[in-house]
Amino acid sequence: MCKVSEKDVRLFVSMLDRDKHSLHFLWDCNTGTVVTVGCPLFDDVKEDPLDFLRESGLIDPESMPAFNVFSSRIEEGVISGIDRNSLSVEINMKFAPDEEYSDCGFYAHFLRDDAGKITAVHGTIRPYSKKELFERRVLKEFSSEQSPKIFDDAVAAMMARHKNEEIAFIQFDVERFKLINEKYGVERGDELLSYLSTSLALLCNEEQPFCRLTSDVFMLVTTYENDKALMDFIHKIESLLTGFKDMDYRLIFGVAIAEDRGLHTRRHGDNATIARRSIKGNALNNIGFFNGRMKNELHRKQTIEDDMKNALLDNQFVMYLQPKYSISTGKIIGAEALARWIHPQKGMISPAEFVPIFEQNGFILKLDQIIWDSACKKIRGWIDSGITPVPISVNISREYIHTFDVVGELTHLVKKYDIPIHYLELEITESTDAEGVSDVVSRLKEAGFTMLMDDFGSGYSSLNMLKTTQFDVLKIDREFLSEFMESSRGRKIISHTISMSQDIGLDIIAEGVETKEQAKFLSECGCDAAQGFFYSKPVTQEEFDKQLKAVNKE
Ligand code: C2E
Ligand code: MG
Ligand code: MG
Repeated sequence: MCKVSEKDVRLFVSMLDRDKHSLHFLWDCNTGTVVTVGCPLFDDVKEDPLDFLRESGLIDPESMPAFNVFSSRIEEGVISGIDRNSLSVEINMKFAPDEEYSDCGFYAHFLRDDAGKITAVHGTIRPYSKKELFERRVLKEFSSEQSPKIFDDAVAAMMARHKNEEIAFIQFDVERFKLINEKYGVERGDELLSYLSTSLALLCNEEQPFCRLTSDVFMLVTTYENDKALMDFIHKIESLLTGFKDMDYRLIFGVAIAEDRGLHTRRHGDNATIARRSIKGNALNNIGFFNGRMKNELHRKQTIEDDMKNALLDNQFVMYLQPKYSISTGKIIGAEALARWIHPQKGMISPAEFVPIFEQNGFILKLDQIIWDSACKKIRGWIDSGITPVPISVNISREYIHTFDVVGELTHLVKKYDIPIHYLELEITESTDAEGVSDVVSRLKEAGFTMLMDDFGSGYSSLNMLKTTQFDVLKIDREFLSEFMESSRGRKIISHTISMSQDIGLDIIAEGVETKEQAKFLSECGCDAAQGFFYSKPVTQEEFDKQLKAVNKE
């Protein structure tokens, strides 16, 4: 016997269209009884309609994860209460075994008694009309671009409604999503992302704005009561959103509590980004909190950004040169150009501090152009003063390689200073986008430049990049060298890396050589070129000229 009020039943019956391509059920939460109407197949469903649907075989397996999240939200809503009156999800379903799947909307309305307690769920599943399908497509196409703006507005409005409460910004992404794409294929990677979007939409209530910021980065905002409630909420997101189709992935969270309510919502979002990035690569922890130390870092980042444009006009960026040596002859065989920022108040700022920030905000291109220009100018200077030049290698940041005409700019510089092209060498670090970089490297090689693969052994894709990209020289990374030198197994790996490189026609140079033992070991392995503090730190151009004169005198 259904205990739902008569009014609800009448409403339910009046809404039925008795079309065999739609399904309605009224589920009495007190007695567990259910009335289904519509599709004949479902007429005798008496048990939990959600269980029945799950086992019916009529839902497209692809939609099952979204359905599961949806049904657990309904069940949870019925048991512990929910502050929404309806939920909906998009699923693919058929209404008879011999039919095709169609795009359907599954809507659940919660019916309540006078005290607000949920007494019944009215569920409807029906295929979208052509108009709805069109609208959804248009909405999908636009929402990806518009969503950050809509999200900002929604967050501002939500924060205004909760003036006296604390607000938490929660951001998460899929750890090493690029590797997921490589492992499972791009199509399944895309499926995972749309599953995360759908699940998040179902999980969040009207007072929890959410948004997909970029491909695999999501953000949601909620009120903050205490740490325990927040952690429970994050764990709930985590458990609902992981385990999609037996894929093996981890979500990484960053949390920032909005302390200064005067800040733009984007700034709070940035804080959550910093918190999320702070625990990248940490195997034990996947939730990072924005804290005081990060606040200081952020402050530093902001002052660097404030100062950088002036620094450019004021010629505060200068080129230092670090010599490259031949281990056997002890002669200088080249140099690497490294940027230094000579700040009028703060003194010398290391690239480790500003390069990552410039890479993020795009300023790195300007810095690189200054250094490329300085390197060409230096080579021209040597030629003009009768000094035999050594090749200078400059760094090319990967950040703009696809958007800027690197080949055109560099060939222009070589022509402008009228220097033999082999004196300017180019360093590019390994990248997960090996194929995209490979194309640019090929064009630079065709133009006549010598290409160096920087920091070999420091990341995940060194070997992949070696396979796809035609470099001339491989630079062994400092940490790879120092860490692997410590064990006999590691030394074997270094030694084989050297012989493997030579086998495929690559020259090799070790960077970060700090001790005599390292130099000796490298030489024994057949690597004659070295760069590092054992020989010389990066020095000013004047100092480099002195060294060059002293070392290469005869
Ligand atoms: P990188 O290109 O791998 O440069 C080598 C770094 O190792 C330099 O750090 C150099 O000073 C340091 N190094 C060299 N020998 C030793 C050693 O024996 N021991 C130790 N501990 N370090 C050594 P630096 O100058 O701080 O530059 C850091 C990174 O910043 C560079 O790594 C490069 O990726 C980037 N960078 C520097 N200048 C530029 C630039 O003009 N453009 C771009 N895109 N990146 C730059
Ligand atoms: Mg380099
Ligand atoms: Mg390097």
